[in-house]
Amino acid sequence: MSVDAANPLAQELNPWLAADARFNEAAGRLAMDEGIRKILRSPSREITVYVPVLLDDGRIEVFTGYRVQHSIARGPAKGGIRYAPDVSIEEVRALASWMTWKCAVVNIPYGGGKGGVICEPSILSPGELERLTRRYTAEIIEFIGPEKDVPAPDMNTTEQVMAWIMDTYSMHMRQTVTGVVTGKPLDLGGSRGRPEATGRGCMIVTLEALARLGMKPEETTVVIQGFGNVGGMAARLMSRRGFHVIAVIEYDGAVYNAKGLDIEALLQHRKETGSIREFAGGEEIDRDQALFLECDVLLPAAKEGVITSRTAPKLNCKIVCEGANGPTTAPADHILSEKGIFVIPDILANAGGVTVSYFEWVQDRQGFFWNEDLVNQRLEEIMVNSFRDVVKYSEKYKAHNRLAAYMLALDRVAFAIKLRGLYA
Ligand code: NAD
Repeated sequence: MSVDAANPLAQELNPWLAADARFNEAAGRLAMDEGIRKILRSPSREITVYVPVLLDDGRIEVFTGYRVQHSIARGPAKGGIRYAPDVSIEEVRALASWMTWKCAVVNIPYGGGKGGVICEPSILSPGELERLTRRYTAEIIEFIGPEKDVPAPDMNTTEQVMAWIMDTYSMHMRQTVTGVVTGKPLDLGGSRGRPEATGRGCMIVTLEALARLGMKPEETTVVIQGFGNVGGMAARLMSRRGFHVIAVIEYDGAVYNAKGLDIEALLQHRKETGSIREFAGGEEIDRDQALFLECDVLLPAAKEGVITSRTAPKLNCKIVCEGANGPTTAPADHILSEKGIFVIPDILANAGGVTVSYFEWVQDRQGFFWNEDLVNQRLEEIMVNSFRDVVKYSEKYKAHNRLAAYMLALDRVAFAIKLRGLYA
């Protein structure tokens, strides 16, 4: 993703510039030592690999793949692998740094990493996808491992892809090593509660925000953008908890019911028809305008760059809970802050996923698996404590929540670096 200097919106949407803007602001407010700042700003390691794959028609194609380890100061690098045509080293680098801050906010013993392969997965056959995954894994094999760097699913990489990575790594090690990746199928060392974890985490931190603002779930309206893993699960769990999910926005339409949508019925409708459109339990509304509906909680759970300097002024909510990664651009941060909107930033709000990934890794290493109640209870404890830690920073430094979350994260990683000292 190259930065188009002549196009301000393209610059605003650039993930590396967004990560850098937040980093600089937080480091500045912490009056961080210049040397530590240099360490934290640069990735620890960037690997580029060229992955030859035999296609079904007999041709060989070579795909470009990356793995970036931004930091290993607090533990192994941790972060997903995405397969997409627009993957770039800049994007992977930004996402890797986000993982460092996210893991530090929830105080789990990981650094941050991210990987990606430039490809169009929708035109690859299952066999081609498997060969691509196995060869990419083999190319980065000396850099990953339960103690080094633990990949996970991201855009277009599934449980099955994780199973292939685990198997390839295990074949090289001549033993089964389940802890090399997370997001695996339950029967191969996955964790109970993982599919719901991110949506559950969103609900937990939203409940904390409501308590601070003196609001009750039964009197709270929610608009959710994206009805996939995060948005669908958040909708289900929040409506069970008494919230009124009044609108759901998808890429092909939006559905609205002022009294609250029947989320189980909408999930069923989407399963049967492949869309949320033509749902009998609500009216169809304009999907672009739906973002600006009057509501208590707006939960973007689809993609990055949704709340920008153009859309932020028009939002009509009290709380933004960022289920997606990077839904808000850096210039929009200040607009939300001026509007008095309580933002639960992505590196806190959607950290339930990586937290249960951490539980998966712990369970794999112990060879002892927890029941779902224990997973959920431990998740809740971590999310609540992290929310409160961010709020403490926000009060101490008079900073908006995103800045506070970055300051907390930078402080934790910088502390680990100072404690370890510089190996020379
Ligand atoms: P998903 O693919 O399961 O769901 C995304 C949904 O958003 C899909 O239903 C898709 O149709 C919809 N969508 C796509 N473009 C849209 C648009 N323009 N408007 C409205 N809806 C649109 O993905 P997911 O796993 O739910 O991830 C969603 C976001 O949450 C991503 O930013 C991801 O990085 C982030 N995230 C996911 C997890 C996780 O555990 N799955 C963890 C942390 C962060």
